[in-house]
Amino acid sequence: MNEKKNPIKTMKISMKTKLAAAFTLIAVILCFIGALFIIGGGSMIAENRQKRSLRSAVLSRAESISEKKLIPSSIPSENGISFAVYTKEGKLLIGDPLRSDDGADPLPDSKHFTEITSGGKKYFVFDKKCSLGKSDGKKVSVYLRGYINYPESGEVMSARALSAAITIPTAVILLCIAAYLAAKKILSPLGKLQNATNAIISGDDLSKTIRTGDNHDEVYELTCTINEMLARLSRSFENEKQFISDASHELRTPTSVISAQCELLKTSDTPPTAEEYSQAIDLIARQSERMKRLVLELLELSRIDRGKVEKRFESCDMSRLVSLVCDEQKELHADSTITLTADIEPKIFADVNSSLIIRLATNLISNAYQYGKDGGHINVSLSIERPLNTLVAELVVEDDGIGISKENLPKIWERFFRAEKSRSDTGSSGLGLTMVKWIAGYHDGSVRVESTLGKGSKFTADIPISHKSQTAASESK
Ligand code: ADP
Repeated sequence: MNEKKNPIKTMKISMKTKLAAAFTLIAVILCFIGALFIIGGGSMIAENRQKRSLRSAVLSRAESISEKKLIPSSIPSENGISFAVYTKEGKLLIGDPLRSDDGADPLPDSKHFTEITSGGKKYFVFDKKCSLGKSDGKKVSVYLRGYINYPESGEVMSARALSAAITIPTAVILLCIAAYLAAKKILSPLGKLQNATNAIISGDDLSKTIRTGDNHDEVYELTCTINEMLARLSRSFENEKQFISDASHELRTPTSVISAQCELLKTSDTPPTAEEYSQAIDLIARQSERMKRLVLELLELSRIDRGKVEKRFESCDMSRLVSLVCDEQKELHADSTITLTADIEPKIFADVNSSLIIRLATNLISNAYQYGKDGGHINVSLSIERPLNTLVAELVVEDDGIGISKENLPKIWERFFRAEKSRSDTGSSGLGLTMVKWIAGYHDGSVRVESTLGKGSKFTADIPISHKSQTAASESK
């Protein structure tokens, strides 16, 4: 079905744009706060200045009237401030009256500044009481009124608003460009990293690495992480390729033996005898058994590779487990001329995965049978040892069989390695020792081998024992 994509969901906004937008938004908010402060705060300062000069002009003239005890015939205006003298009741004695547009002329009041709108203009008014002495035993006083209009502050405000209206958008545009360029510069290493990663992925060569540069910043860290990821991917692809090619190679032999046998039986000119039938069926059964084992082991290894195997331990009597494996192997190889001797210290308890320990012992002992000599010997021993101050259960499987050459010794742990390719029809898969090594590692233990070609081999697996389980074991003895 051709699914239509939602355009909003697929809209791509680059980090550069997002970062630039965030910078710009912060800058715009700061600009507006600044503009509000300059325009509003500026007009307040202008008003305060007007009021201060009005008050000091009125106070100085009122002082002179109070000193002289005389009302002058006129008081000239100065610096835009006009004066008038009123009685307490508001009767004008000298000067120009200031008539309020709403007709409510303010009575003299020397405590506050008053605001009046007269002739459409705004004025500040300030009054000061002047004492003229006594007449008929009564105190005589008048009020000196000063007033000033403040058209200038309004003009200043609108001029400031105009300049803000031009400056703010210009500043915002410039900030926007600067923010975009800064974001581009900051993010450019990321762009390079993306291109380099794309080049590696599209070139199909994951073994390449990206140059980290000298700057030990976050991009450096990210580059190192990507390099590590690419290396791991490359390793895992390589492993997978190797695994598939080994597996198909290993499966090819039994399948071709089976199909060759079937073909022979089908196309034979003379009908096969009962013995020929029986031989062919035996061969087919052996090969299919081998394939079954191989497939199971491959599945298990693939689970291990994917890290899907959980660590599960329980306290087990390892002595019992190894004894059981020895008995089972003896029974399985009842026809063999090889003698197995077991020397197992009793009641060795350890926190282990019992089924894996059985696998480990089985693989080592069955190999000893498989690669042993006619009339040979296998010695299996289990004891508690203390290498490097850690308590381990040491399993030793020693044989006097064909041994392993020096050059093959390091390779025997590799998947599908078999020194004796000719024995491939015996059911060996070349995976047994890989499993042994993995099982020892799974228990934080180790496995080692000593071998001489033609003389025999000695495999030693050390499995750590937790003190807790050993103490429990000794208590239960
Ligand atoms: P296989 O299924 O072939 O036994 P392993 O992984 O168990 O696979 O062993 C890998 C190879 O190591 C064997 O093919 C054999 O060549 C060699 N090997 C393992 N155990 C012994 C042994 N006890 N004596 C001699 N060679 C051994």
